[in-house]
Amino acid sequence: MKNVIKLNENTYLIKDVCFCYLLIGKKKALLIDTGIGLKNISKIVKKITDKEIIVVNTHGHIDHIGSNSYFKEVHIHEKDVDVYNFQNSSIFRKYFISKIKFPLSLFAKKLKKPIESNLITIDDTKVFELGDRSIKVIHTPGHTPGSICLLDEGSKTIYGGDTLVPILVLLNLDYSLTPEIFLSSMEKLDNYRDKFEYIYPGHHSTDTKKDIIDNYINAAKDAILKKGELYLDEIGISRVSNYKNVKIFAKVDYSKLKLEDSINLAINDKTQKIVKNIKNTANKTFNSIKEAIDILQNDEKD
Ligand SMILES: [Zn+2]
Repeated sequence: MKNVIKLNENTYLIKDVCFCYLLIGKKKALLIDTGIGLKNISKIVKKITDKEIIVVNTHGHIDHIGSNSYFKEVHIHEKDVDVYNFQNSSIFRKYFISKIKFPLSLFAKKLKKPIESNLITIDDTKVFELGDRSIKVIHTPGHTPGSICLLDEGSKTIYGGDTLVPILVLLNLDYSLTPEIFLSSMEKLDNYRDKFEYIYPGHHSTDTKKDIIDNYINAAKDAILKKGELYLDEIGISRVSNYKNVKIFAKVDYSKLKLEDSINLAINDKTQKIVKNIKNTANKTFNSIKEAIDILQNDEKD
């Protein structure tokens, strides 16, 4: 299984369109996210462990919930049920398929149908007990209202979903919340700082350093002050606030945009350069998705 990487004795990374993680305890195992659903992740999990599997979604986005239906029950934060239902509706799935590019589009048919899963809602008090391992839910709204991080204090690891993720965080999507709320989520994580050394995010790289929290705190402060360049893509106009190696994409109130901004956005050379920079970031994301798909395809042939 080329898409499975052993991170340590009892923790595995399963590379899908997002990064899924399997944490094996003495009695039970916890699967964090289920990928986009092009592949039955439960089969992969069963090859790794025969322990009872508990499943949790870090949030309700389509690339994290896709194999939910292969499990009897899936945990999700109570504030993300609406996001989940929206992303899982046939109308959103059709829209998503119309937007996706090659090579993911090869699998579009499989993504059309909404998935069925039995959701169990959780809140900030939830701790998953795996026997010798306790995994704590930390509610970190921003990317979505019910986004969570999961703290495994025993192994000093935090699983960041799309909240504590390298390169960029998207606060410009349907249901995303304000930079103010994202900032308080980062400050909340900062309070847990001594309890983890390793950050395993939902995309990009498992080699993520703790200063990502400081960088997001600074980027969020800029986003609150509306410091950052405007950026136009198919989602609409967003404001991008940079700090060191992270970017926050925040929503823009169109009614408050000056005409001058809109003109600049369309014609300015400087903007074109910024768009190019941001496109490079987007390409990095796209390449990591492409890499995941290549692995999935090759794995299929085995
Ligand atoms: Zn997401």
